[in-house]
Amino acid sequence: AFTVDEAKLWLINLNKIYQQEKMYLSELDQAIGDGDHGINMARGFNELNKKLETAEYHTTADLFKDAGMVLLSKVGGASGPLYGTAFIKAGGALKDKEEVTKEELAAALFESLEGLKLRGKARLEDKTMLDVWIPAIEFLQNHPKVDWDEFKKLVKEKMEGTKKLEAKKGRASYLGIRSVGHIDPGAASSYLLFVELARVCE
Ligand code: ADP
Ligand code: MG
Ligand code: MG
Repeated sequence: AFTVDEAKLWLINLNKIYQQEKMYLSELDQAIGDGDHGINMARGFNELNKKLETAEYHTTADLFKDAGMVLLSKVGGASGPLYGTAFIKAGGALKDKEEVTKEELAAALFESLEGLKLRGKARLEDKTMLDVWIPAIEFLQNHPKVDWDEFKKLVKEKMEGTKKLEAKKGRASYLGIRSVGHIDPGAASSYLLFVELARVCE
C-alpha cells in the first residue's frame, strides 16, 4: 500500500533533495538552457514544503492535487506547468481513500505521463523529462511487484542517456546539435523524483 503519509514523506524528502541539488540542476541548465532549473525546482518545492507543514490531507488524491497547484504556480519556467500537471493528473486519477495500492499509484502516474505528453507535446528521445518518465512508468506498469533497485538503476540510465540526445523541445532545442553531450536538466530532476519515490516505496 501507499499511504497519504508516505506520499507526504516523498514530497518532503524531494524538497530536501532539490534544495541540495539546486546548484547541480542549474549548472545542467546553464549548459543547454537559461540556468534556472535548480532555482525553479528549489523555489517551487520549498513553497510546497511550507504548505505541507500546516495542511492536513486525508487522501493522497487531495495531497497530489494541491501539490500540483502549488508547483504549477511557484516553479515557473517550462517545467512548472509540467510538474504541476503531473501531480494534478495523478491526484485526479486516485480514488478518495486514505490508502491506495501500488498498482493504483502506478496507474495514477501513468495519467501524469499522459498529462505531460499533452501539455509539452514532446516525444521519446526529444531530450526532455519524458525520457525518464516514459521508461519509468512503463517499468512500473510491467512489474506489479516492483524491484525498486532495478527501478532506480533504470531511471539513472535513462537520465544519463539524455546526454547523447539532441534536444527537440524547450530552450535546449535552440542549440540544436550543440545540445548533445549534456544531461537534460528536467530529466535529472525527474530522476530525483523517481529515486525519492523508490525510497519511500522500497
Ligand atoms: P525553462 O526552460 O523555461 O527555463 P526549466 O529550466 O525549469 O524551464 O525546465 C527545463 C526543462 O523542462 C527541460 O530540461 C526539459 O526537461 C523540460 N521541458 C521543456 N520543454 C518541455 C516539453 N515541451 N515537454 C517536456 N519537457 C519539457
Ligand atoms: Mg531553465
Ligand atoms: Mg527559465
